[in-house]
Amino acid sequence: MAASADRVPFRHDFESPGEQDVARRYQTLVEQLPLVIYVDALDASSSNVFTSRQIEPLLGYSVEEWARDADLFVRTLHPDDRDRVLAAHAHTHATHEPLSLEYRLVARDGRVVHVKDDAVIVHDDLGQPLYLQGYLLDVTVERETQEQLRSMALFDPLTQLANRAFFQEQCQQAVATRGGRDAETALMFIDLNEFKTVNDRWGHDAGDCVLQTLGKRIQETVRAGESAARLGGDEFAIVLPAIADPEDAARIAERLLGRISEPIELDGRTLVITASIGIALGSDVDTMLKEADAAMYRAKGNRGVGYAFYDAGIDSAASERSRRVAELRDAVARGEFHVDYQPIVDLDAHTISTYEALVRWDHPTEGLIAPLDFIPLAEESGLIVQIGTFVLDQACAFAARLAADGRDGVRVSVNVSARQLQDEGFADRVAECLEHHRLAPERLTLELTESVLLAAGEQVQRQLHALKELGVLLALDDFGTGYASLAYLQRLPVDILKIDRTFTADIAGPDAELLLLKGIIELGAALGLTLVAEGIETSEQHEIVRSLGCHNAQGFYFGHPERVPASDVSVPRL
Ligand code: C2E
Ligand code: MG
Ligand code: MG
Repeated sequence: MAASADRVPFRHDFESPGEQDVARRYQTLVEQLPLVIYVDALDASSSNVFTSRQIEPLLGYSVEEWARDADLFVRTLHPDDRDRVLAAHAHTHATHEPLSLEYRLVARDGRVVHVKDDAVIVHDDLGQPLYLQGYLLDVTVERETQEQLRSMALFDPLTQLANRAFFQEQCQQAVATRGGRDAETALMFIDLNEFKTVNDRWGHDAGDCVLQTLGKRIQETVRAGESAARLGGDEFAIVLPAIADPEDAARIAERLLGRISEPIELDGRTLVITASIGIALGSDVDTMLKEADAAMYRAKGNRGVGYAFYDAGIDSAASERSRRVAELRDAVARGEFHVDYQPIVDLDAHTISTYEALVRWDHPTEGLIAPLDFIPLAEESGLIVQIGTFVLDQACAFAARLAADGRDGVRVSVNVSARQLQDEGFADRVAECLEHHRLAPERLTLELTESVLLAAGEQVQRQLHALKELGVLLALDDFGTGYASLAYLQRLPVDILKIDRTFTADIAGPDAELLLLKGIIELGAALGLTLVAEGIETSEQHEIVRSLGCHNAQGFYFGHPERVPASDVSVPRL
C-alpha cells in the first residue's frame, strides 16, 4: 500500500443514483471489515486511490492525513522492514504478481503494529490492469504471543539468560563462525558453591533473587559475540567464540569469579556466593560441555584458584569414574549381583566352620567383576548400603539352607563397610534379617576392616556394641594391612582376627620371615581371639600356620569362592 498523492473518493466513480446506492452499501461493508482495505494506482509513485477508515484506529492517522501526506506510508514502515516492503511492492507493480507479506508499521504513538499485507492486481474487461487492491490485517497479538512462546522456549524465565537448548545452538554457531584457524572456542561451565544452603537457610525466594543477581552479573561480563546461559539449577555457562590464547579465558574466569563473589544485599542480609569454573577449549560442543563440567568438578576441589582447564589425563579418569557410578546405580536397580561362598576351615576339627560371602557383579557386557573393582566406588557413592543389604540377606538365606540340610553348626561371614555402620539402625536391620531367616545371631559373623575401626566415630561404636549385644560375632578382616594399634584391638568388641595374606604369602619360601606372623598369632591368642590365616594356597603354608598355633584358615588350598560351594573340604591331618 503506497501513500496517496491525490485521493479519489471511491463513491464518485459511480454515476446513477442506483449505482451510488450500491456504492454506499459496498463502502459501509468495507468499513465494517476488521481490516484496512486499500487501492493503489499503478502509476510510477503507486499513488493511493482509496484507504478505508480502519486505518485510523490501527495507526492513529486519519484517512485525510493519509491522503494529504504522500510519504506517510514509507515513514510508518518499521526501519528494519522498509526496504523489504518497498521492494515487494515494486515487484508486484512491475510483474503484476499478487503481493503477500508481513511487516511492521510504527503507529503515531510509537506502537509497533504487525500487519499482513495481501493484494492483487484488478483488471478491466479487456484484461488491462487497473489498480492494486489489497488489505492490511492486524496480526500484532498473534505475533506477540508467538514471540513470547519463542522466548519461553529459548530463555530461562528467572534470569532471562539463554536456556540449555538455546545455548547449545549458540555454541554450534560460535564454533561454526570462530575467527581464523588460530582462534579457539572456549566454553566455561560455572557452578555456584554451596548454593543449596542459600535455599535451605533463607528460602527459595531468596535463592531465586541470588540467581537473578548473579545471572545479571554474568550477563554483564560477556562481551559482544559471547553468550551466557543458565543451564539449570545453579549452573551457568558462557561460550567465547574465538580466543587467541587460553590465558584470555583464564582472565575472563578470574573476572567472573570476582564479580560473582561481590556481596549481595538481600532483605538486610549480606550474602557472599562463590563459584567454581571449568574451562574447555575445542570445536565439538557436546564434548566441550562434558569436559568443562569435569574440569569444574576439579576446580571445586581447588577453591583457592576457583577455575580449572580441562585436562584429559586427570578429568577423563574422573568422568570415567562417574560413568561407572551411574552404571553401578543401574546394576543395583536391576539386581546384577550374586554372592559366592568360600570356606573357612577349622584346622583341628578338619571341618568347615564358616562360609565367607563374597559379592560379584554380573556385568551385562563385561562379565564378572571382582569386588575390589567396584566396592570402593560403591562405598564412595553410598550404593554399598543397598549392595550390603542384598549380600546380608543372601548370606542369611544360605545359612538357613545349611541348617535345613542338617549343617547347623556352620556359620556365614559377611563383609561390612564403614559406610554401612554409619547408618543409624544398621544393627536393627541385621536383627530383622536374622529374624526373617530364623537364624540364631551366633551363626553370623560380620567382617570389618581396620580402616572401619580406625574411622570409628561414636555412631560406629554404638552400632558395634549394639551388634555385640545382639549376639553376632565380629571379625577384624585383613589384619596387619592397616594401622590398627594394639590399644584398638583391646578396646573393640572383636572376636576373630583374620590375618591378612601378606603375612602368609611367603612363609614357605627359602628366606621365609616368620617372625611377624608368629608375633601376630601370639598376640591374638593372648587377647583371647580366634585366629584365621588368610590366603593359604599350599599344604606347606597350611602346615606352618598350624604349627605356629593358628587353628583356622582360609584360602584356595581349601576351596575357591563358589556360588554353590562344596560341602566337604579335605583338611589333611598333620
Ligand atoms: P576379603 O574379605 O579379605 O575376602 C577374601 C578375598 O581373598 C577374596 O577376594 C578371596 O577370593 C581372596 N582369596 C581367598 N583365598 C585366597 C587365596 O588363597 N589366595 C589369594 N590370592 N586370594 C584369596 P574377593 O572375592 O576378590 O574379595 C575381595 C575383597 O572385597 C574382600 O576381601 C572384601 O574386602 C571385599 N568384599 C567382597 N564382598 C564384599 C561385600 O559383600 N561387602 C563388602 N563391603 N566388601 C566385600
Ligand atoms: Mg572378608
Ligand atoms: Mg580378608
